[in-house]
Amino acid sequence: MNTEKNCRNIAIYEFAYDKIKLTDPEWSHAFRLEEEYLATLNPDRLLAGFLETAGYRPKAERYPGWEMTEIQGHTLGHFLTAAAQIYASAKNPLWLEKMDYIIEELYRCQQEDGYLFASPREIFDRVENGQPAWVPWYTMHKILSGIIKVYEITNHQTAYRIMGRLGTWIADRTEGWTKEIRDRVLSVEYGGMNDCLYDLFLITGEERFARAAHQFDERTLFEALHDQKDVLNGLHANTTIPKILGALKRYMVFGKTEKFYLVTAQNFWEIVVKHHTYATGGNSEWEHFGEPDVLDAERTACNCETCNTYNMLKLSLWLFQITGDKKYMDYYDHTKLNAILASQNPETGMTMYFQPMETGYFKVFTTPYSSFWCCTGSGMENFTKLQEGIYFHNEEGIYICRYVSSDLVWTNGRIALKMEVVIQEDTLAVRIRFAEVPGRKFSLYLRIPDWLEEDTELFLNGTYLKGEIQNGYVFISREWVQNDMLDLHMKMTLKIQGLPDNERVAAFSYGPYLLSAGLGNVMMDMTVTGVDVFVPQKEITVKDYLILQDVEINDWKKHIERYLVKEKGRVAFRLNNQGEELIFTPHYARYRDRYGIYFRLYKKESRELVNLLEKEKQAKRLKNVMTDVIPVGNDQYELAHGIKGEKTDTMRLNGHPYRFCREDGWFSYRMKLQNEKQELCMTLCGQDVGNSYRIVVDGVTLVEDVVKKEKDEFYQAAYQLPLMSKPDHEKIITVKFQNLTGEGTFRIFDELYLKKCDERNK
Ligand SMILES: [Zn+2]
Repeated sequence: MNTEKNCRNIAIYEFAYDKIKLTDPEWSHAFRLEEEYLATLNPDRLLAGFLETAGYRPKAERYPGWEMTEIQGHTLGHFLTAAAQIYASAKNPLWLEKMDYIIEELYRCQQEDGYLFASPREIFDRVENGQPAWVPWYTMHKILSGIIKVYEITNHQTAYRIMGRLGTWIADRTEGWTKEIRDRVLSVEYGGMNDCLYDLFLITGEERFARAAHQFDERTLFEALHDQKDVLNGLHANTTIPKILGALKRYMVFGKTEKFYLVTAQNFWEIVVKHHTYATGGNSEWEHFGEPDVLDAERTACNCETCNTYNMLKLSLWLFQITGDKKYMDYYDHTKLNAILASQNPETGMTMYFQPMETGYFKVFTTPYSSFWCCTGSGMENFTKLQEGIYFHNEEGIYICRYVSSDLVWTNGRIALKMEVVIQEDTLAVRIRFAEVPGRKFSLYLRIPDWLEEDTELFLNGTYLKGEIQNGYVFISREWVQNDMLDLHMKMTLKIQGLPDNERVAAFSYGPYLLSAGLGNVMMDMTVTGVDVFVPQKEITVKDYLILQDVEINDWKKHIERYLVKEKGRVAFRLNNQGEELIFTPHYARYRDRYGIYFRLYKKESRELVNLLEKEKQAKRLKNVMTDVIPVGNDQYELAHGIKGEKTDTMRLNGHPYRFCREDGWFSYRMKLQNEKQELCMTLCGQDVGNSYRIVVDGVTLVEDVVKKEKDEFYQAAYQLPLMSKPDHEKIITVKFQNLTGEGTFRIFDELYLKKCDERNK
């Protein structure tokens, strides 16, 4: 892309998207579905908030879902990026027209001082004043990035003018920040504002935009990562990864003097991939990073937000382009298949938000016209650049990093080749045929995948060829002849992957494919969490462990092919789980049933198995009596519960999220009270011993109390609520927390919830 060409310190370049044509039926189908879906969206509906904000009458009503919240307008940004990518792939004029129309409308909406947004500007004041507001800088990043992408692909002059003026508004705003204001702004998710402003600087050469980008560089975080400190515990993952993309962009834009930022990004990548990542390539639980190497304990229905994966792929791609280190493409290739292709419903084209790692859940997809989640937006981007990462080039030759059937036509290099990939029983067979060659020597670097255990077998025109191995690539340099045919055979084997915090846990893969077992499709109901985000429910018992008969766990793992038996002619494995048969198939293609990627291994009739069953019973009991739960400090969930307050903010202590209020501050939530005896339960911390607080329910004081010092640092406080005598089944109450300690603070941690009073559950 244009920006990339101007970047310093890039050693390996991408091809423009129209040079690569996907011919693989699944990948090209996925692309087509996304394009078809995007073609049905009405630009006027996506623009409505922008017109309203500018004082015009919208031409169509806004879409519902997140487009009717304070994050409105983010979808238009993603849509522009996706439209530019589609246009870059096939140059279909329809998409040029759409971009043209939107850009002209945006130009009309841009205000004198450059402000362009789908919400009034006071939302930015609120962030600066420390009042609750839903991530306007995150939204700004999406919008500005979309406009920049349109300019990069189409050289659109109006887009150039808009982004320059918007950049000026941002620069004006950020230049006025005091240290206190800047700290407050940077404590709220702001996407990759530094990343897109560095792009803007690169395109326009205007120094102010680089200075504005620096305002979003979070030096303290970068310094810790630069020193290889894993400080991720408790950080919001999709807030953090784009910050690092911005850091790396700084290096890419300014060159070697900014090596600090490269090292920061490399260390961050290592920390995330080695200590916070599941077998799919995804990370996080309820959008947050946890403690390093604590992954089994964090498996739930809400792991691996797809936006995080989208951003980790971007980071991996750039790090590869800078360093040429193939480990980045190992991660990229694996994750693109097992987490990104896996995130689309191949019938409807809809994509996922969370990707559950707890066994027994199922994939839940966005709706076409009523969700517009963050991941709906990054999904639009994901599926319109599926050819990314297959081929790269530098002065010496071509890198092939992903084995996906496709055609490459490189006009400048006068090279055209066709890659065909098929599965031949236990072998991934790749055939590369040169349709056009330049009549001079050039090199081919073929990535040796990290899943490969044996040597690759290489044949040139049917004759065995001993390829040279260089830094993890098969390297061949020769004067190629037209119609030369290179065959690469890679033997696939079954592999077990564990998780660091539980030696019993196993996930299975075969060659590049992560496997999952189908666990039926009974009662596949969904529930809503956060702001209108659907998550799968598991109201039935699903066995998430394997019972090994008379064999020790290590022996079972060592001889896995005896127990997971391959079916002939397809990638499917049967496992006999004490009378139950499980069939493992590639996870990316599963979308209609409950699944298990991870299973715990227990020896039949062992004490550990008995203990596990008892623990699960207890957890289920508590879950059954909880009626309304708020994960404290999670912006989406707090907004959905009508968060209000003064002198209040959220932070983390040793990985525990908390909300606090200071001096005479307060915060409140709206919660659903049911018509039976209920308790309000919250977690307090013994470090605050002596601090006092008041809880007010619907204007009436429920209790005034003091934080205690208990045996454990964190302890539960529960207060019974007065019984409602209304006939309604449930009622919304406002629960307000006030600090009574003057200079001190009051804070609640982890989850705030209502539960039914039931003596057995005390
Ligand atoms: Zn997301």
